[in-house]
Amino acid sequence: MRLRTTRFLCVAALSAASGAVGLAQSAPATRFTPALIERADVRAALAYVDRNFEQQVAEWIRITEIPAPSGQEAKRAAYVSAELQKLGLKPTVDPFGNVIARRPGTGGGPTLVFAAHLDTVFPVGTNITVRKMGDGTMHAPGVFDNSASVANMLQAARALHAAKIQTRGDVLFLGTAQEEVGLKGMYYWLEHNKGVADMLVALDSGLGPVNYGALGIYWSRMSFTAAGAHTNNSRGVPNPARAAAQCITDIYTIPLPEPDAPVSAVYNVGGLMTGGSVVNAVPAEVTFSVDLRTVDPQMLKTLDAAILGKCEAAAKAHRVGFTRTFIQRSEAGGRPEHLEDRRRHPLVQTAVDVLEHLGVALPAGREAIASGSTDANVGVVNGVPSIAVGRSRGGDQHTLQEWTDIDSAKIGTKQIILLATALAEIN
Ligand SMILES: [Zn+2]
Repeated sequence: MRLRTTRFLCVAALSAASGAVGLAQSAPATRFTPALIERADVRAALAYVDRNFEQQVAEWIRITEIPAPSGQEAKRAAYVSAELQKLGLKPTVDPFGNVIARRPGTGGGPTLVFAAHLDTVFPVGTNITVRKMGDGTMHAPGVFDNSASVANMLQAARALHAAKIQTRGDVLFLGTAQEEVGLKGMYYWLEHNKGVADMLVALDSGLGPVNYGALGIYWSRMSFTAAGAHTNNSRGVPNPARAAAQCITDIYTIPLPEPDAPVSAVYNVGGLMTGGSVVNAVPAEVTFSVDLRTVDPQMLKTLDAAILGKCEAAAKAHRVGFTRTFIQRSEAGGRPEHLEDRRRHPLVQTAVDVLEHLGVALPAGREAIASGSTDANVGVVNGVPSIAVGRSRGGDQHTLQEWTDIDSAKIGTKQIILLATALAEIN
């Protein structure tokens, strides 16, 4: 047990000052206290995770092997719903495909939402059979992102139930649909449940820093069009391929901040490229995609405008038509200095302290970061205090080589229990 006594003292001082000036100088508030982890019911809930880990891993495998490409999460949602029902909760599936269950509090506390996305990036037909290795890892597409979080969330709900833990605030367990294609389920849920969530915790990413910001992501499809022509008649004819080539070359002249700058940005052209249908003709259409990312809302807009400008100029120079369509658009949460208020919200420091208590220690300054691309982004841009935290250790997500360490999911699960009891205020 490694607790920072100094921080608890600071928190006491903070509450005494109750919003007085000078908050910026103080340590961020936390709800994670030594008293919390001394409680018998909290200890019982944590012990439940250790005692039933074999069963949790079996369920984790079961969940991973339920195909759930974005938009086709119904089977997974039904599984999650059935399991939560066994705990006496009343889960429902909303019209978008999100599954939601409320664990009622006794009243007077904040409503805390845990969200784990149900979907994966792998199409039906992908071999998603889990291979358990002798080195303590499991391999399968989706085993890490985000089946681990779904399994952790279910097991944390069971542990709270088994230990008869009562919180003042409601705890909501939300399995979201279509996260991987633009955080769509969470956009839907927040839009249709305004004012419900006081705090939002997205369970999605490797164990590590607590993420309290939002990486802005614009995915564009750039389309260049012309009448086309047979090669024999192509001399001097407007050619969308030449315009696209020119545009891509010019985009890569747009300067970016250094990768290690306090706030950076990155773009990538051509994840998707299409055009033409035969060898012997000028294509009627050539398209490519652009993936642009930064946490800085202003930089996002400026870079997007610069990229668009290069495409428009290339289209004009080559006398072809041009249109841009957004494939996906998630707004940026802001630079760290814009998010100082959010960093001071107890949600963030509580999560940092919980992780440190569970042995996930990170260098000072790296324990909480203002980026991230998860369901928490939707909360951040909608003004709901939101964080994203990890599920287990692993890697190669979104590839067929995806893998996860098994044991670290215990930490991911205990983290949910401690966050629920600390933030939804155990009675
Ligand atoms: Zn994910």
